[in-house]
Amino acid sequence: MTTLPATIENHAAQGVLALRWPDGSEARITHARLRALCPCSACRAQRRAGIEVEADNAVRLAAIEPVGAYALNLAFSDGHRRGIYPYEMLATFA
Ligand SMILES: [Zn+2]
Repeated sequence: MTTLPATIENHAAQGVLALRWPDGSEARITHARLRALCPCSACRAQRRAGIEVEADNAVRLAAIEPVGAYALNLAFSDGHRRGIYPYEMLATFA
């Protein structure tokens, strides 16, 4: 069973997504790191080919949409919006 974050806060100026989990732990993940780790099929294929996904430090989250009760669809300022980030994956960020 997937654990949902208790709160999701986007700090746009700092480029940080802060997730607080029900156990009280908090993860602060930079937008650039999220972009670099995009789990969409195209980005995964690129990484499998040995090419890193480029993520400028200036990249910002443009939209955050819940997908059912299991994931967030994150759209970025570089126009990329295909990444579905399961909470299970987000929970692995410290
Ligand atoms: Zn992607």
